[in-house]
Amino acid sequence: MNKDILSTTTHIDLQFDKEHLWHPYTSMANALPAFGVVAAKGVELQLQDGKTLIDGTSSWWACVHGYSHPKIVAAMQQQAATLSHVMFGGITHRPAVELARLLVNMTSPNLTKVFLADSGSIAVEVAMKMALQYWQGRAKPNKQKILTIKNGYHGDTFAAMSVCDPEGGMHTMFGDLVTKQLFAPAPQSRFDGEFDPEELNEIAAIFEDNHQQIAALLVEPIMQGAGGMRFYHPEYLSALRKLCDKYDVLLILDEIATGFGRTGKLFAYEHSDIEADILCLGKALTGGYISLAATLCSDEVAQGVSDSPAGVFMHGPTFMGNPLACSAAIASLELLQENIWQKQIKSIETQLKAELAEATAFDNVKDVRVLGGVGVLEMNTTLNTAELQQQFVDLGVWIRPFSNLIYIMPPYCITSAQLSQLTHAMKTVAKQISLPCNESVFI
Ligand code: PMP
Repeated sequence: MNKDILSTTTHIDLQFDKEHLWHPYTSMANALPAFGVVAAKGVELQLQDGKTLIDGTSSWWACVHGYSHPKIVAAMQQQAATLSHVMFGGITHRPAVELARLLVNMTSPNLTKVFLADSGSIAVEVAMKMALQYWQGRAKPNKQKILTIKNGYHGDTFAAMSVCDPEGGMHTMFGDLVTKQLFAPAPQSRFDGEFDPEELNEIAAIFEDNHQQIAALLVEPIMQGAGGMRFYHPEYLSALRKLCDKYDVLLILDEIATGFGRTGKLFAYEHSDIEADILCLGKALTGGYISLAATLCSDEVAQGVSDSPAGVFMHGPTFMGNPLACSAAIASLELLQENIWQKQIKSIETQLKAELAEATAFDNVKDVRVLGGVGVLEMNTTLNTAELQQQFVDLGVWIRPFSNLIYIMPPYCITSAQLSQLTHAMKTVAKQISLPCNESVFI
């Protein structure tokens, strides 16, 4: 890694971190060890102890162009020196306007209105609020339920949790504060398998029985991420669009993880050639450099919201349209417009398919799946994240397994040799999990 970056490093007090700082989904009473990162460039993370790791996660789908990209860094530096923040109410600025223009041009033609939110969860909340206000404006105020499918994940705030998989624990843990929504079975047909229209029978019955109460259907298109890293058939998504049209229900697509090229299309809904009424974007929107999300909707949805008794859309966060975040997003989207990402994702996909294929023969591997820039080993057993994390670090890679999944979604600029290091580590760890001596622990 470049020495210039390392000159900016400082000591990280890991003990203070352990005692005082929450990390995602962790216990302060029993904090797991965290690895101190001092710098990152391209696809490499530089640890405090001098070790370099190849990043297989893109920092949870976000850093698609890799770290410290000079164009994004320069855009943010320039913006910080000019206008780092200003209240968005009654004031506008070029970064927000230009970002909105790019988003309107990149997404399907019906999506014309952009709400700039702070995080993915808030983009989902905004979408749900828009749907409810829309139906108030269309004199159907009883349409207040959100229909979704099992195995979904849409964020950690209360409304977002209400549409996450009902088996995930969030629904029981927080009692009545989590609204009861409607859940249909998860799709069964694989992305590259046969599509069986009968698998939609149950969801079609839910539409038929409840459409007068359903404001919107909310799903992750093509890939269910945190709910199991499953890729489902494009015709399933097309069939959902048809059901929404038939029963007068809005379709909200959550592209927060899939958006901006990850599945091989700029947006995953393009695999099915459909349009959403409301679209949620986040994570890679800024190339992962700073938090920003967006909710786009059609003219019709925006008009319905304006026709609602409130007359305005009831949401307005302090950091709405933050210029610094918008400038990072513009730079990131301009990089995507250079159209190198398609080639990069195609070669990642081809290599992942070739190199992960042998894992199908491993005892403990239940399934191997690849779509675009995502590679998944589904194991037969639940994994010990902390233990495996250390093994991956020892192998020189950053891969964070969860549940029974070992999966990667690296930055698009990863080289073939770096990708081989990731797949080698995945297979090495997966193979070791399946060794008989591991099982002997239970004898
Ligand atoms: N929707 C999906 C599909 C996601 O993957 C995530 C984040 N993992 C979210 C929503 C929530 O985004 P955030 O963490 O930025 O709130």
